[in-house]
Amino acid sequence: MKKNNNLLQVPNINSSDAQVKKLIYKVEDNLFNSHYKSSSKPEYLCVCSGGTTSSCARNGFITLDLRKEYNEIHLEKEKNLIRIGGGVIMKDLMNYLEKHNKTFPIGLSKLPGAGYILTGGISPMSRRYGLAIDNIDSIKGYLGNGTFISLEKDSLNSTQKLLWKGLKGAAPFLAIITEIGLKTFQSHPIQIIEGFVDDNELSKIINLSEGFPENLSLQWIFAERIYVYIFAEIKDDSDKEIFQNYLKQFEKFSSLKRKIYKTYNHIDFFPKELDLFELNKNNHSEVISLLGGDLKNDIQIFVSSLKEIIQNKPNSSCYIATQQLGLKTKEFDPNSSFFIHRTSTWKPWIYASWKKNDLKEREIVLNWMNESWKKLKPFFPQIHLAQIHNHLNSHEEEVHLSFGERLHELKTLKNICDPESILPPL
Ligand SMILES: Cc1cc2nc3c(=O)[nH]c(=O)nc-3n(C[C@H](O)[C@H](O)[C@H](O)COP(=O)(O)OP(=O)(O)OC[C@H]3O[C@@H](n4cnc5c(N)ncnc54)[C@H](O)[C@@H]3O)c2cc1C
Repeated sequence: MKKNNNLLQVPNINSSDAQVKKLIYKVEDNLFNSHYKSSSKPEYLCVCSGGTTSSCARNGFITLDLRKEYNEIHLEKEKNLIRIGGGVIMKDLMNYLEKHNKTFPIGLSKLPGAGYILTGGISPMSRRYGLAIDNIDSIKGYLGNGTFISLEKDSLNSTQKLLWKGLKGAAPFLAIITEIGLKTFQSHPIQIIEGFVDDNELSKIINLSEGFPENLSLQWIFAERIYVYIFAEIKDDSDKEIFQNYLKQFEKFSSLKRKIYKTYNHIDFFPKELDLFELNKNNHSEVISLLGGDLKNDIQIFVSSLKEIIQNKPNSSCYIATQQLGLKTKEFDPNSSFFIHRTSTWKPWIYASWKKNDLKEREIVLNWMNESWKKLKPFFPQIHLAQIHNHLNSHEEEVHLSFGERLHELKTLKNICDPESILPPL
């Protein structure tokens, strides 16, 4: 059989099935030539790092796959800094750091690439170390207008300051990032308390988690049943003592088990063996990520809404999951980046999946996703733009709820950095 060269091999099935116009691997001057300007259709360049989203490839669009040419990793041990290429995935970053007894607040999966870092980056460790963007030290890349940029956090001039903020949280709209310098942390053992719980137990655990200290966080998934992960980093005796006290409370949930890991890098969240949700290669999917504050007295109403949403899910692969941020992530000035919803404690995401060639089911499932979003909005009114959906009707509202009052400022920045809209439009 003839090999189809116009397919991108990536984890996201929508993107790996897309018939791209062309694949390119290097940023060269002609990338910013008149191709897009003369194009009669609104076409832009898709950028691929980890390839975990539905926006890194589209039928008839060109994809710049950064994984081949921008995959270098270099640790500056004495400075606790690591420089990674714009096409490095979190698995490679973490394996590299592990050799040096270091770590970085990556998310719940090691599959994502630089997109994870540039769009904010919420980790189970964020309550202690902040978001991924809070730990960026330097950025290199090309603006949409072709200008090469090399920015260092501590030596920004006044015009670079706004760009620096824009790149932290909204980079996909402004630039192609080819190198990121990140602060690294000493690695420590992790303890996880995990297991299936019922809705009543979930309410109690959420209630407990809203008082968690910085080294603990809660994440859970609700597909057919509910599975929770209580994460704890044990850095020193004080962490140990705090965790021991919490253990007494966790023991009340008889189905929860305790696991000990040497480092964060050894954890595999939501593994296949647990059969938490159907992982189907014949399905396409979209994900929408929400943000909101503490649930406080609304926990039970929220869990009831959740049950209703799951009861109505049209495909067994669909699910809702949530991760906890807060504490350190709340300390940063909302003006320091374009991740502006700094009062957030929870990031739930809705995973909507359908049989890939079934357009009718696609419509039903996307409708379920939007209806579920409506039901969750009173609790989580904002959006975390970790996935770009300019191929969906929800895009405009998502952009508005991500950047709020600062959307105008971001649009001005986009006009300067990417006036021809070579990169995804806002
Ligand atoms: C299994 C899984 C678990 C996840 N867990 C978490 C989590 O715990 N916390 C969290 O915050 N998010 C999480 N995410 C969301 C994920 O971090 C975002 O969707 C992120 O944007 C994916 O980045 P990517 O590089 O893998 O994807 P890609 O599809 O390659 O890129 C996504 C978009 O980002 C832009 N982009 C990527 N790299 C660059 C670059 N170098 N320069 C310019 N633009 C670029 C492109 O426009 C691209 O369309 C998870 C996603 C998955 C699939």
